[in-house]
Amino acid sequence: MGGADLVLRGAVRTGDPHLPLARAVAVRDGLVVALDTDALELADGATEIVDAGAVLPGFGDGHVHPLWGGVELAGPAVRDLTSVEAVAAEVRRYAAEHPEEEWVLGGPYDPALAPRGLFDAAWLDAAVPDRPVVLQASDHHCAWVNSEALRRAGIDAATPDPPTGSVARREDGSPLGTLVEWTAMDLVLRHAPSPTDGEKVDAVDRASALLADAGVTWAQEAALAPADVAAYLTAARGGRLHVRVNIALRAEPGEWPAQRAEFVAARRQAETSPEPGVADRVSVRTVKLFADGIVEAGTAALLAPYDDLPPDHPQTCGLPVWEPAELAAAAAAFDADGFQLHVHAIGDAGVRAALDAFAHVAEVNGPRDRRPVVAHTQLVDPADLPRFAELGVVANFEPLWSQLDTAQTELTLPRIGALRGDRQYPMGSLLATGAVLSTGSDWPVSSHRPLECLPVAVTGHWVPDERVPAAAVLAACTAGTAYQAFEEGVRGTLVPGKRADLVALGADPLAIDPGSWPDLEVLGTWLAGRRTAGSATGRPGTG
Ligand SMILES: [Zn+2]
Repeated sequence: MGGADLVLRGAVRTGDPHLPLARAVAVRDGLVVALDTDALELADGATEIVDAGAVLPGFGDGHVHPLWGGVELAGPAVRDLTSVEAVAAEVRRYAAEHPEEEWVLGGPYDPALAPRGLFDAAWLDAAVPDRPVVLQASDHHCAWVNSEALRRAGIDAATPDPPTGSVARREDGSPLGTLVEWTAMDLVLRHAPSPTDGEKVDAVDRASALLADAGVTWAQEAALAPADVAAYLTAARGGRLHVRVNIALRAEPGEWPAQRAEFVAARRQAETSPEPGVADRVSVRTVKLFADGIVEAGTAALLAPYDDLPPDHPQTCGLPVWEPAELAAAAAAFDADGFQLHVHAIGDAGVRAALDAFAHVAEVNGPRDRRPVVAHTQLVDPADLPRFAELGVVANFEPLWSQLDTAQTELTLPRIGALRGDRQYPMGSLLATGAVLSTGSDWPVSSHRPLECLPVAVTGHWVPDERVPAAAVLAACTAGTAYQAFEEGVRGTLVPGKRADLVALGADPLAIDPGSWPDLEVLGTWLAGRRTAGSATGRPGTG
């Protein structure tokens, strides 16, 4: 056996049941070449040695929006602000510092800062009266706009609500300043300037560096237009993409038949990229469909009415994005084109529509290894729990959401009540059925840091049976996301021959209280044995 490029020493949590814990891992030519005693022997003469508290397979993020999030990072810093006044003040500061920007675009603001998530344009007018302002809520299903933005978009009392969205209104029918769901947000955003190609590449660079800093080595880009694939390819060619990415292209009701050829062409763009290091870093393997919206906005599709809507309300059970038959037909078409399906499903009717679509796909297109993904998996009817394993569906969770935060107590539980409330985020129940779990952040919706998100699955869920063991949630984040990506043969666990996609931590997460995971230091992140983040100083293995 030859030498090693890199040897990491510490508690190596391999994720491999045959050797779950080793004392070292050795890397050569981008691959894991040895573990434990064999790896320790290679330290002598290795190019670099790093001592760490623990070494794990690099984290995966099964649902994240690096491009949008990276763009948003460039705007006003309203994330984490805790009052309407503070958000308005930050918008005022940003606008004053950027007089050249004709529109002030940014986010994410906390939608729980106003009752029922309804924000008034006048609150922003006081900060910026003369230029349009559009802020996206942290759920990215609502936007808060000022009066100038409404004026530019021509939205007034006579403007009808768009399909599958709504314009929040005052009693006289005039627009309040909050737009609910994408079709309503687009009424304004289609008048706003899009980021330039250069700004998009900058966004990918900035966001993927943030993910690498948090120990992430693979990300599922959860919704992109085909035209934006180029930003990832350009970043990868320029050495500015710091994680591996699989891109999901977003399909729309009505438009999907025409989107099929575009999606196939976008996939080919990535697959045929001639530069070394691009094809193994960027793939376009997946199609994203939104089954429904979100509970907070009353747009998640429910099997039974919302508790707080009158029975004659037109959206008493929420707002499915697709007719179930069209969703199933589109899913079958994209499956026939060879794409994996990734369906946003929040309400119990949304989840059921997704599962029904997957069942339809298998029926009409025949057996194949498909690994369709339900993203978010928020409210699941008990009858649907066994269907995940039966249909081979990956259940993707954002563990940070599975706690009684203000989004739950102020916006969600009042709308669905306690019985349905306790059926949310059934991680423990699905694990017990044998379903494959993957974790994600949905950043910039919520924190991108796995070490902040994952412990909530272990200790945070208010229904104790839905909590999962620490080792299981780490597996969902590493092996689970690799399975989601069809890449369990090359990464996700640390065994000789697999890619050296690694994260080194200050301490062993399985030897400490999960409550302290958010404080664990990420000493370094490596992609194919090359460092993408971290300050850990290695030293040469000779002498
Ligand atoms: Zn998302």
